[in-house]
Amino acid sequence: MQARAFLASVLAVALVLSGCAGPDHTIAPAAPHPVESTTAPTPSPHPTLAKPPKPPLRPLPAKLPAGLRRNTGVRQVVLTFDDGPNPTWTPKVLDQLRASKVTATFCVVGREVQRHPELVRRIVREGHQLCNHSWRHDLDLARRPVNEIRADLDRTNRAIQKAAPGAKVSFYRQPGGRWTPEVLTVAKDLGMRPLHWSVDPQDWDKPNAATIGKRIHTAAGPGAIVLLHDGGGDRAATLAACPSLIADLKKRFGIIKLR
Ligand SMILES: [Zn+2]
Repeated sequence: MQARAFLASVLAVALVLSGCAGPDHTIAPAAPHPVESTTAPTPSPHPTLAKPPKPPLRPLPAKLPAGLRRNTGVRQVVLTFDDGPNPTWTPKVLDQLRASKVTATFCVVGREVQRHPELVRRIVREGHQLCNHSWRHDLDLARRPVNEIRADLDRTNRAIQKAAPGAKVSFYRQPGGRWTPEVLTVAKDLGMRPLHWSVDPQDWDKPNAATIGKRIHTAAGPGAIVLLHDGGGDRAATLAACPSLIADLKKRFGIIKLR
């Protein structure tokens, strides 16, 4: 009985209120904030909604920090493919690698892993290495607060584990190669070795296949770590360059799996 009486009184109040507000509102809406019209405008009308200021980005060191993996340590070279997995290019790159009987390292972007987990499983199944390449390819990630770096790398590793349970992620590569000592430390804390490169044919800049091949042929020496891309854009030229560049590197140095 008490509850019913209470509900009834609430309903009555609500009806009275809506009855008062209704006609006025539809005919002549009152100014929403009449008080404000008589006072000087304030520069920050909603201080409680303002986001806290972002911490400033840490400056990039003038040169690459020590401790990066930049060669294989042996005569043989390795191939690395960044920014995938990509449903158009990654399967074709994997086909090429299988046909040439070589393995590579795939530096994968977390949100692409989340979108294409089956490609991560194929990479692992076919004996290639995985490398964490951050969640969304944030070029400034290494300059952010350490807790943000850690959360990003950890999120990416968790996506990889969800896609391919038990897969080993032995390496981290900072997007753009924009390393800081802090990102190296976080990567190492999470059990990953910081992986840079020694040969960059700049295939992301859309040279043709012959140019990609020529650049790699000229720049590669013993122990080279070659940077290529299977994601992040149209990779037709990279794909077309693969058969001859793989044959060339195999003949001159041998291609091994990164350890
Ligand atoms: Zn990248």
